[in-house]
Amino acid sequence: MRRSLERSNAQYRKASTRLPMGVSSNFRFWGEKETLYVDHGRGARLWDLDGNEYIDYRLAYGPNILGYADPRVDEAARKGIEVGGVFALSTELEYEVASRISSMVPAAEMVRFSNSGTEAVMAALRLARAYTGKDSHIIVEGGYHGLFDSVLWYSDIEQWDPEKGAPEVHADSAGVPQILKQLTHFTPLNDANHLEDVLRRHGGEIGAFLIEPIMGNCCAITAKRQYLLDARALCDKYNVIMIVDEVKTGFRVARGGVQELMGFKADLCTFAKAMGNGYPISAVAGRKDIMLQVANGVSHGGTYTCHSVALAAAAKTLEILDETPALATIARYGNDLNAGMSRVLRQRGIPHCFTGHGAMSGLFFADTAPGNYRDWLNSDYSFYDTMAPKLHDLGILCEPDSREPWFICEAHDRACLDQTLLAFEKAVDETLEQLHNSKAVQATA
Ligand code: PLP
Repeated sequence: MRRSLERSNAQYRKASTRLPMGVSSNFRFWGEKETLYVDHGRGARLWDLDGNEYIDYRLAYGPNILGYADPRVDEAARKGIEVGGVFALSTELEYEVASRISSMVPAAEMVRFSNSGTEAVMAALRLARAYTGKDSHIIVEGGYHGLFDSVLWYSDIEQWDPEKGAPEVHADSAGVPQILKQLTHFTPLNDANHLEDVLRRHGGEIGAFLIEPIMGNCCAITAKRQYLLDARALCDKYNVIMIVDEVKTGFRVARGGVQELMGFKADLCTFAKAMGNGYPISAVAGRKDIMLQVANGVSHGGTYTCHSVALAAAAKTLEILDETPALATIARYGNDLNAGMSRVLRQRGIPHCFTGHGAMSGLFFADTAPGNYRDWLNSDYSFYDTMAPKLHDLGILCEPDSREPWFICEAHDRACLDQTLLAFEKAVDETLEQLHNSKAVQATA
């Protein structure tokens, strides 16, 4: 590591005496010497405690769609403070924000708010179970849907031996009750035959099919439109609720999210990240007859739901995304960035491709884009893993794990683009050299 992280390292040592792993979310721990502590963020940049400046492509895993401390949203949030917080009662603005969501997303006939993506998906699954009377659900391999027990399962692709059938399924955390495993089925993306097979065998128990058509936690691997249409028809045929998890894609890849982009309609959909430009708010939305289950015995709510600050921030963020060309600006930057990175890689003969959408895309070291998580194994992710820390040293903050897409915000500008591409070229050359040297060492050993 070339830059100094002296203060971040000292903060880690101090923080880990009170906060397990020194952080408040496991994903923020990058190692004793690598964990970053932020001083502040503005626009597309953030600064750590040591004063290192970064152009940020993580954007807190997506929420900051306009940029950090966006003055328009922060002004609205300050007005939200004046309202007074939470009351265990509702306010007028809730209807307005719900109406805005309904006008942007046709599937969102009715809307309920929560605070996080986890809560929204949890509510969607409960609604689906209540509506269908069926307790099991299907998750697409590689999908991440939050930190609650029903979805904290993963298909173990890294240890998978294709000769031995389907990948094993494991709990993604200690403490998840094993008994829940029997309620969770997995299917690979873009394989409607496999999905139909699962439904044919277990459709009588399955209440929900949970899908993120651009996999925001799996290298932005993308569903084909035909697959989504087939899945839609299969859900209808087997009386299964199609839940489209738009926690990352919502209000990012199009005004109407991935549903608009791909031209299909969910039964239920979930939104969070981009909705409030970083203020904690989320939503579950969908068909009126399903959503009205909350008036028919389905519990939904929470003390902090629709806090006046987060709600005011969401009202302003959605207004900007709906009424200005912000999303087109974001997509254009992402496409320009990918074209620039592609140029650098092509000049060096490095096979690669991009997945997803300009606003959130995955960089893949293989000639063709993976169609599902199983295909991810065929790419050279060691190249990405070697390159990412070099980019950090050069002031470009991407996720160290190649499965996390790069996120773009409206504040990424020409200066960010030029700086990123210069750094990228340098990081690629250094990575090539490092991998070449380590191969030479292995060959002589
Ligand atoms: N669903 C998806 C697709 C996500 O990407 C995430 C978080 O990254 C969640 C749900 C959970 O959201 P949260 O972290 O706000 O609970």
